[in-house]
Amino acid sequence: MTADPGGVAELKFRDPGRARELTMALARLAESRERAPVTLMHVCGTHEQAIARFGLRSSLPPGLRVIMGPGCPVCVTDFGEVDEGVALALQGVRIATYGDMVKLPGSSKSLADAQTEGARVEVVYSATQAVELARATEEPVVFFASGFETTAVTTAAILLAGPPANFSVLSAHKYVPPAMEAVAGLPDTRVDGFLAAGHAAVITGYGLFEDFARRHRTPVVVAGFEPLDILAGLVKLLEMIRDREYGVANGYPRCVTRAGNLRAQESLWKVFEAADGPWRGIGVIPDGNLQLRKEWAALDARRRFRIDVSGLQQTERSELSRRCLCGKIMVGLVEPTQCPLFGRECVPDSPVGACMVSSEGTCKIWYQYGGRPDLGGTP
Ligand code: SF4
Repeated sequence: MTADPGGVAELKFRDPGRARELTMALARLAESRERAPVTLMHVCGTHEQAIARFGLRSSLPPGLRVIMGPGCPVCVTDFGEVDEGVALALQGVRIATYGDMVKLPGSSKSLADAQTEGARVEVVYSATQAVELARATEEPVVFFASGFETTAVTTAAILLAGPPANFSVLSAHKYVPPAMEAVAGLPDTRVDGFLAAGHAAVITGYGLFEDFARRHRTPVVVAGFEPLDILAGLVKLLEMIRDREYGVANGYPRCVTRAGNLRAQESLWKVFEAADGPWRGIGVIPDGNLQLRKEWAALDARRRFRIDVSGLQQTERSELSRRCLCGKIMVGLVEPTQCPLFGRECVPDSPVGACMVSSEGTCKIWYQYGGRPDLGGTP
């Protein structure tokens, strides 16, 4: 393990001079590669937002591709999971969920569609707010919970704190490490190194990736979200690839430790267990879903309610949604602007696919920042 690649802890995080040095280092390292291009994948919508917002892709040398993997929890929420939320809402159960989940299309309807049919769907900004909603009423409130392990910790915390009896959780939480395994194992996807999300590693610790890096002979660098964090992380990845160093480097030492937050991990695994489950556009990922343990059955909406999705399932998707390339984008096979619907039939106000819905979705981020050529990089 290498501590603090690029001296990130001592950087002023937006120092243009240091940014120039790092981009020059990237260019030197990319030039010295025997085989090009090199493809680095990050698995985090917050990284993609920072890359787009600070125009980092336009400063990358030719031959270096930085792509986003399945790092948007809303984007990977499966049709069936949305159908469950919609069915409950149409059955008259009050649903509390995060804002991005409302527009997310299910097999035939979104929660926003259900709202127009009279269903009560409340947008909350935290799990705690969903509990407050339940405390203010006697009717059942279901928290349709999405997000990766970092967000799942907050859901676990409210259950451990003892929510009211009318509260339950419909979990669409996902676990990122198995998704990285799935991407690394895909025959058509070549990823030379992974930039891991600093905020998730605050909880899980960077040690979680050591076995993965060794087995797949793919370096992993944990990075923060300032432009220099990301550039330093990319430099470190290219150095590790050059040196055939298949381990983990911690580029976010001001927040991340090898073991992570043990109390948060304890809470997470006390409430949730990993289970095989579908990720939208990707398929079933072994251990990719976080489901409530059976000890929490009384607070598990799937066990508490009879959820009838039969009226919602469509065997044939609309012609437009069949053309959505979201799944291929999330495993690094294509880029948003290669989708013929990008910015035409599919825009944030009327998204066709999940990647255009969430602020963490690649298509929405690219659309907001102008797509190519504004985002630059290697087409
Ligand atoms: S632009 Fe829309 S339709 Fe195309 S891949 Fe992205 S989300 Fe799917």
